[in-house]
Amino acid sequence: MAYANTPHIAIIPSPGLGHLIPLLEFAKRLVDHHRFTVTFIFPGQSSQSSAQISILNSLPSSIASVFLPPVDLSDLPSTAGIETRISFTVTRSNPALRELFSSLAAEKRLPAVLVVDLFGTDAFDVAVEFHVSPYIFYPSNANVLSFLFHLPRLDETLSCEFKDLAEPIRIPGCVPITGKDLSDPCQDQSDDAYKWLLHNAKRFKEAEGILLNSFVDLEPDAIKALQEPAPDKPPVYPIGPLVNTGSSCAKDEYECLNWLDDQPLGWVLYVSFGSGGTLTCEQLNELAFGLAESGKRFIWVIRSPSGIANSSFFNSHSHTDPLTFLPPGFLDRTKGKGLVVPSWAPQVQILAHPSTGGFLTHCGWNSTLESIVNGVPLIAWPLYAEQKTNALLLVEDVGVALRAKNSEDMIVRKEEVVRVVNRLMEGEEGKAIRNKMKELKEGAGRVLRDNFQKKKKSLERRWALYEGTH
Ligand code: UDP
Repeated sequence: MAYANTPHIAIIPSPGLGHLIPLLEFAKRLVDHHRFTVTFIFPGQSSQSSAQISILNSLPSSIASVFLPPVDLSDLPSTAGIETRISFTVTRSNPALRELFSSLAAEKRLPAVLVVDLFGTDAFDVAVEFHVSPYIFYPSNANVLSFLFHLPRLDETLSCEFKDLAEPIRIPGCVPITGKDLSDPCQDQSDDAYKWLLHNAKRFKEAEGILLNSFVDLEPDAIKALQEPAPDKPPVYPIGPLVNTGSSCAKDEYECLNWLDDQPLGWVLYVSFGSGGTLTCEQLNELAFGLAESGKRFIWVIRSPSGIANSSFFNSHSHTDPLTFLPPGFLDRTKGKGLVVPSWAPQVQILAHPSTGGFLTHCGWNSTLESIVNGVPLIAWPLYAEQKTNALLLVEDVGVALRAKNSEDMIVRKEEVVRVVNRLMEGEEGKAIRNKMKELKEGAGRVLRDNFQKKKKSLERRWALYEGTH
């Protein structure tokens, strides 16, 4: 239903499901809780993945979508990182965004606010031209956001690469981060991916506000420090945990949900590397052997192997059958105890299922929050983007994860898989982590309940206004 005189918010999600999914939840809340009007503006990607199409098809009709024409990225080298591709896609969509805003202005339908995510700040140029308020939705945590606020200064003062720093970087309220635990683009400061990260970070100060997908019980000190007023720091609003609660999935569509129904409560380990993570062939085999040898029950979302950890970032589905890469005999050996799901699974429903008792995750922030909301303890196996920082936070600071450790050749060997899986699923340490996760789940539940109360009040107020004018 469209409401007259309700604020109109435009949202630009930069390419990548991990950016789109929480922004959709944010949009749904703006519409459901506050009756705002929301338009998604998709920057010009040449193609959409099937997972993205099915997520967009599930959008409520109250949320409008506009697709800007595809931009040409053919001049980028094939080695260009995802951060570079994402940023160019947004930046080169500015002319089309300007045209769209011109026509919306002519129809008196200009949005009041433009929300972008961490790679979308160049769209602020268009927002400001049309007097639209620029905001950022930051889809990861307060620790990483704090680092980005400090990045321009660190970049000016540092005389070596981050990865060569002898001491961890200490930022108020945050877990100390060694250079090697920083996000991928920070591992090579001469790469364009780093330049784009820095470019966007420098523009964060232009936002009128930053909405953060985290909550105080999870990162009390980092959020407190972020909220201290300082020059060039817009107000930061922790509005998380914004996660899909996933009631819309048809159970029959996914065999794995029926399979979970037949498993003992709390004994299944869910293994997934997000919407785009892939393992090398050797790593995939080590994980397979380790899972089989652990003897534990599992659901494993598997993709065809690749030498590049984020090779499925723009398309989650493998072109070849991933099951053909499993070691011979693996499926027979794990029959009844393990289920292998190619490319994509209903993650939110799996994490909410009472049979799920652990999550071996790449530590993407959406996956992390989905696990917290359901109280499922973690094994941290970070692959790319800011996932190593997230893993550090979850293992060292929050205490809700065990880290799967690489051997010297950067492979997590099967013995380590067995060790870490058994420690989480049956050891004393696993119990302590499970208890900590339960506490955090309660904290998340309190925030979600408070939000529900606010929604009720907001709707009651709006209804009273409506009655008063009719
Ligand atoms: N996801 C899913 N099924 C899958 C893989 C991923 O539903 O098989 C969803 C997951 O629930 C989460 C998102 O995709 O909401 C992944 O986001 P995250 O931030 O964890 O990682 P990214 O994919 O951005 O690396």
